[in-house]
Amino acid sequence: MKPVIALVGRPNVGKSTLFNRLTRSRDALVADMPGLTRDRHYGEGRMGERPFLVIDTGGFEPVAKEGIMHQMAKQTKQAVAEADVIVFIVDGRQGLTPHDKTITEFLRKAGRPVVLVVNKAEGMKYSAVASDFYELGLGDPLAVSSAHGDGVHDMLDEALNIAFANQPPIEEEADPAVRGTKLAIVGRPNVGKSTLVNALLGEERVIAFDMPGTTRDSIEIPFERDGRHYTLIDTAGIRRRGKVFEAIEKFSVVKTLQSISEANVVLLLLDAQQDISEQDAHIAGFVLETGRALVVGVNKWDGLQSDRRDEIKIDIERKLNFLSFAKFHFISALKSSGIGPLMKSVDAAYAAAMIDLSTPKLTRALIEAVEHQEPRRKGSIRPKLRYAHQGGQNPPIIVIHGNALEAVGDPYKRYLEKHFRDTFSLVGTPLRIELRTGK
Ligand code: GDP
Ligand code: GDP
Repeated sequence: MKPVIALVGRPNVGKSTLFNRLTRSRDALVADMPGLTRDRHYGEGRMGERPFLVIDTGGFEPVAKEGIMHQMAKQTKQAVAEADVIVFIVDGRQGLTPHDKTITEFLRKAGRPVVLVVNKAEGMKYSAVASDFYELGLGDPLAVSSAHGDGVHDMLDEALNIAFANQPPIEEEADPAVRGTKLAIVGRPNVGKSTLVNALLGEERVIAFDMPGTTRDSIEIPFERDGRHYTLIDTAGIRRRGKVFEAIEKFSVVKTLQSISEANVVLLLLDAQQDISEQDAHIAGFVLETGRALVVGVNKWDGLQSDRRDEIKIDIERKLNFLSFAKFHFISALKSSGIGPLMKSVDAAYAAAMIDLSTPKLTRALIEAVEHQEPRRKGSIRPKLRYAHQGGQNPPIIVIHGNALEAVGDPYKRYLEKHFRDTFSLVGTPLRIELRTGK
């Protein structure tokens, strides 16, 4: 399980600047995905061999009593309670403020380990930066500059050491053949996740055992359907009671992120009877960023008038257009309708994510693409694409070798992606194209 780091602090201390720095490698990939919200709160990062998840708790406002701020504060509080380590950011230029003290108070109650970070410390003496903040009683502050990068590496190292020390021991995973497709069903509260799980499993099909222990309250449910094996992993917001599954009240951002990053295929459920929300888009954006395969189920399709259905489709098209690689299914978990085709798409997405493409095949497809349309010159430089090999699965990574590839623009990269997608019928999985210029 990837450890979770929550960034906490009052507005303007530099949380999103730090967030971007921690998740930077991914940022470039999603930055110009049309339609994808730029205002990200969940991200994946990596330090050497250590992957981690980051949550920017953005609108932290511990005192709000009601309304949207209150809702956000509730989510934030929960994320804080569930994170493995909190990075609490204060502003070295402004010094200590009363709001910082309020947040400290709250963090103390939450009882999670905290790393105190003084941001905007570039060009300042450590003693001057730190002295203000000792009185918070959170130990020696670390001085960083999120904007320039100073101290960020050491800070992250410390945060990850704490996070790993706090994680429960990892239990051995079952044989991959038995686990089959690792499937995460995610979505906002009340979209119908538990109803779908029940419809999918139908009690007799469950090879009923839970595998507790790998995470706090984790639950894994292996099941078989039409002769195929699946494991529902860490299904956020669903708990087993007796022989059936029921929703628990809480929506957990942390569990959602973790289950997405553990899955092979994510089944994102939307509620057709509610508007597509920011939260739906955030979850979808995170799926895209982690590169998991994705199938979207638009649930509660029963009992809707046909003009309403058309409106909903248009709304989805508009708000989630960055998910064009995924299949959308209009289903009713309650009436068990549309589930067969939905699972067919899960299988197809899995197959696409796990595809194994030989270098000759990929190179042939590359040459075809180039013959059909060459990359543009950039000034006097003409990029030369020579051959391609596969650099990874789930998501498939296609590594293209050649010369002067830094001159290849994003539109051409998208063209190549589409060409590979069409050639190999890759539906339901993100696809990454990496360009490598040879010596
Ligand atoms: P957030 O509201 O906590 O997410 O803060 P932002 O990341 O949006 O940053 C608020 C402002 O502080 C922006 O103008 C940033 O450019 C600036 N900022 C962030 N990090 C640094 C830093 O390390 N040094 C300086 N001097 N400014 C910074
Ligand atoms: P969860 O919080 O995502 O696990 O959602 P639940 O499975 O608990 O469902 C929330 C509510 O939506 C319940 O009252 C369900 O009966 C209802 N519901 C779930 N699926 C459907 C559906 O396909 N159609 C309709 N009309 N209601 C549904």
